[in-house]
Amino acid sequence: MRPIYKFVSEDTGLITKTVSGFIPETVVIPLKKSSQDEIEILVKAGDKVKEGQVIAKSQDTCIHSSIPGTVVNIIHSKFADENEGYAAKIRLEGVFSFTGKKIIEKEWKSKEPSAIIFLMKEGGVLNTYSSPEPLNAQIKNLDKTKDRFLVVRLYSEDPSRITDAFVTEHYFEKIKTGAAITARAMEAKGILFAFDSNKSIPQNFADGFETETAVVSLDAKNYPNGFMHEIVSTAKKTLKNSIFKNVGNRDLFIDSVTALNVYNAVVLEKPEITAEIQVTGDCLNAGAVITVKTGTSLRQLAEQAGGFKREPGKIIINGKITGNSVSDIDIPVSKDVKSVAFIPFSQLHNQTEQNCIRCGNCLNCCPVGLSPETLYRCFKNKDHNNSELQLIEKTAVLCTECSLCNTVCPSRIPLSQTIALLKKGKINEK
Ligand code: SF4
Ligand code: SF4
Repeated sequence: MRPIYKFVSEDTGLITKTVSGFIPETVVIPLKKSSQDEIEILVKAGDKVKEGQVIAKSQDTCIHSSIPGTVVNIIHSKFADENEGYAAKIRLEGVFSFTGKKIIEKEWKSKEPSAIIFLMKEGGVLNTYSSPEPLNAQIKNLDKTKDRFLVVRLYSEDPSRITDAFVTEHYFEKIKTGAAITARAMEAKGILFAFDSNKSIPQNFADGFETETAVVSLDAKNYPNGFMHEIVSTAKKTLKNSIFKNVGNRDLFIDSVTALNVYNAVVLEKPEITAEIQVTGDCLNAGAVITVKTGTSLRQLAEQAGGFKREPGKIIINGKITGNSVSDIDIPVSKDVKSVAFIPFSQLHNQTEQNCIRCGNCLNCCPVGLSPETLYRCFKNKDHNNSELQLIEKTAVLCTECSLCNTVCPSRIPLSQTIALLKKGKINEK
């Protein structure tokens, strides 16, 4: 039997407040990664911009200025996902179009799917369920020859992060509306909500939907329990007498943050210019979930959470298990950032990679039964002619990128990152 990992964040107890962040005097809005040739930058130094104005776009997405002001420059910047690229540095000036304004809710029920998809694109809605992708493009690319379901996960896949659960608790009705709108846009057969079994399910949760709905409950404190694999297998087990037994990996999976942003983009016609971010870690004087303007720096975030009581040794973005670490405290917050943890030097473990000691931990923990160590060897010996390894290599496509193998490896081998590269190569071969 595989071990079950209980992982409860040791520092979420620091979350003592929820606040709207202050408006920074300058923001640095990530526009495009170096590899994203398809994105066109629409502004230059000296241009005046409004809050919410589109300043870069591609066929699939729009990127907006989060404040009104003047473009100081287009700069080269590091991003929160460890990539680098171009960003617009904007100095605050002028009046706000959205902040502090009462925005009237627009009627959406008479809108055609194509009109909703257009508003999702104009609002720059990213689906942050796993690797961030424009939601409108995902809907357009769904295989509609079969019935498709919408799955809405109401908690974070990484138990060290509380942002999705927090958003669910505070904006549940808006998330329901965002889910209903998304279901309309994709013409879904039904909506499956994945709840955290540690929380009670609101009694009225199924009211007001035009499609069939169902619930699965998974323990969000157990890891992994928030990826497609676990949600699909729970649905197959617990909903076997309903249409939801057919939910699978080709359906659309979104999280609560994405559903909330759909509500904002379609009902309020407000672009994605803020992010709800859990700011935590033992370096800080206090923890908080802060609503901040995109383009706010990590340094400004820390200041908003009461500042540092000790110097951070490491900054972790988007969770201790599935996230990544960055070293630059002036990196700007982008739309896909959900949490930032400032970890002191005293809590850092030795991260130096050692040789595999054949302990078998990675093999025992993999929720989809892969052999991470063998896959790692396949990648490292790319030119091997071993037919058995060639067969095993193909199993990389099943990896859910849950990172559990990394967390149990005593030799600190970057297994999941390497398997993700192998998986990408296999998918591109098809
Ligand atoms: S990251 Fe992939 S290989 Fe590693 S435990 Fe998760 S599913 Fe298995
Ligand atoms: S957990 Fe690490 S050390 Fe143990 S078998 Fe897997 S790769 Fe090797």
